[in-house]
Amino acid sequence: MAKKEFQAESKRLLEMMINSIYTQREIFLRELISNASDAIDKIYYKALTDEQLVFDKDNYYIEVVADKDNRTLTIRDTGIGMTQEDLENNLGVIAKSGSLAFKKDNASQDGHDIIGQFGVGFYSAFMVADVVTVISKALGSDSAFKWESTGADGYTIVPCEKDTVGTEVILKIKPNTEDDSYDEYLESYRLKTIIKKYSDFIRYPIKLEEETVNSLIPIWRKNKNELTTEDYEKFYTEKHYGFDTPVKHIHLSAEGAVRYQSILFIPGSVPFDFYTKEFEKGLELYSNGVLIMNKCADLLPDYFGFVKGMVDSEDLSLNISRELLQHDRQLKLIAKNIKNKIKSQLLSLLKDEREKYEQFYNAFGRQLKYGVYSDYGMNKDDLQDLLLFYSSKEKKLVSLDEYVARMPEEQKYIYYASGESNERIEKLPQTELVADKGYEILYFTDDIDEFAVKVLMNHKEKEFRSVSSGDLGIEAEESADEKSSETAVENDALFAAMKELLADKVSGVKASKRLRSHPVCLSTEGELTIEMEKILSAMPNNPDVKAEKVLEINVNHAVFQSLKSAYENDKEKLNLYTSLLYNQALLIEGLPIQDPVQFTNDMCKVMV
Ligand code: ADP
Ligand code: MG
Repeated sequence: MAKKEFQAESKRLLEMMINSIYTQREIFLRELISNASDAIDKIYYKALTDEQLVFDKDNYYIEVVADKDNRTLTIRDTGIGMTQEDLENNLGVIAKSGSLAFKKDNASQDGHDIIGQFGVGFYSAFMVADVVTVISKALGSDSAFKWESTGADGYTIVPCEKDTVGTEVILKIKPNTEDDSYDEYLESYRLKTIIKKYSDFIRYPIKLEEETVNSLIPIWRKNKNELTTEDYEKFYTEKHYGFDTPVKHIHLSAEGAVRYQSILFIPGSVPFDFYTKEFEKGLELYSNGVLIMNKCADLLPDYFGFVKGMVDSEDLSLNISRELLQHDRQLKLIAKNIKNKIKSQLLSLLKDEREKYEQFYNAFGRQLKYGVYSDYGMNKDDLQDLLLFYSSKEKKLVSLDEYVARMPEEQKYIYYASGESNERIEKLPQTELVADKGYEILYFTDDIDEFAVKVLMNHKEKEFRSVSSGDLGIEAEESADEKSSETAVENDALFAAMKELLADKVSGVKASKRLRSHPVCLSTEGELTIEMEKILSAMPNNPDVKAEKVLEINVNHAVFQSLKSAYENDKEKLNLYTSLLYNQALLIEGLPIQDPVQFTNDMCKVMV
């Protein structure tokens, strides 16, 4: 009996597999069980067209048997079996597509993490076995054959005895080494866990010690109408998607250009690690009921990264590497469909189940706003209808559609005010004019809010406008100017003097058009607002950007008279008042005061 060499490529793959350190050795069992299931499928499909052949479900199963004394693990199936030729062709050389993928991966990686993403099928048996023996009898054949290999140095094929049609793969499990223990692959509890993890939804029974371990029909293949919310929630918990109760499940079953089933969940609360670097988005990916990837990131856009769940497709190959997967057309199609579904389901949640939507939004709204902002606003159209902001008028979260629908005809802009909390924004002097006009103001309390609307620019053709911005587009604001040109000129001299005292701390001092009862506030000119300046200067790289601030004085406030008389009679006093008012404006904005000690001393000067 002559020993045959593996084909060169197969040999290289084998060597690589045996000599590398794998993170997921356990997947060998998934591969062998998948092969067994494929072999039973083949009989099943044959029976569909072959009248001689009856497919009696009870006769088809997969059996896993561990023998500790002999250190063997056997995977037995009642599938279609292999002839001598099949053994030669199928196990002597790896599949073409597989070898191609291997070459591709092997060029760029150090072999460290390959198995996890790269189904190498049958050969993975050598990760845990010194000797692999395959005894097989093909359907319609009288004789059986035994294929055997100890790894890279080749294989033998000899005739042997086997009563029934099917295949037995016998692994001689490796002895333990100093670094690695292989004993676990002979322990039934461990085998059961591995089967459950990867092969739970194989269509044929997988028996271990007489017991069927797998669930057979996966929930995603079942009819939606037969399933209750509890069923989906149970699945969510069993799969360890989260400890919470999801606010919504989405069950998809697509036929057509790409066939797939999917169950998706919108979680009800934020996972503890969600806003950290450690969080990994992704969906479980199955190929025809077999888990091929735990977190397939390519299936979800970042802004929907909170979605949990799985996708199963018959159109994806088990033997696919992560690199190839990224370029897989089918996968891209699935990802696009899923994205659209999530969006439409969130919109209907917003429309029909407001309370649940708000629960969701409180947990993940930031992620959506971040999505608007990132990628140069590429996704804003997908996201702007999903945004909610707190409304000054409604005293609750409102959508942009709702805001725009309520706008009085003469209102030009969508107004917003930024600050630390709703309570603080409510007290901002800058909101006075807009609020007086009876216009609704959106409160921005998230760092990302203002940046997100800068990207949005408008909603339903209505521009966003900060209440602190120079131009509010409100008619009434002109009235202050019109009072009398004489006083205006007088005031200009006072403001110029104040501006000189403040130097480059502000770009101007002027009579406010927006203040009603408050004496003073800051507004900004240009794109950058004060809130944005705060956020940017808190960033690690700390870009030195400053908003162009304008000190606005309420000329109808009693304080203005004091300023005037100081300007006319006491320059020292004007300096004191200007500095006090400027610092007050900073405090209102939540900005730091350069010299707090000086400020408190100035206050005391006014008192005594
Ligand atoms: P793949 O399953 O992707 O084709 P594998 O390396 O897992 O690649 O298997 C190679 C081939 O060996 C299979 O395509 C199949 O033809 C054959 N084979 C493997 N295991 C079995 C089995 N249990 N019964 C019948 N054929 C098998
Ligand atoms: Mg296979």
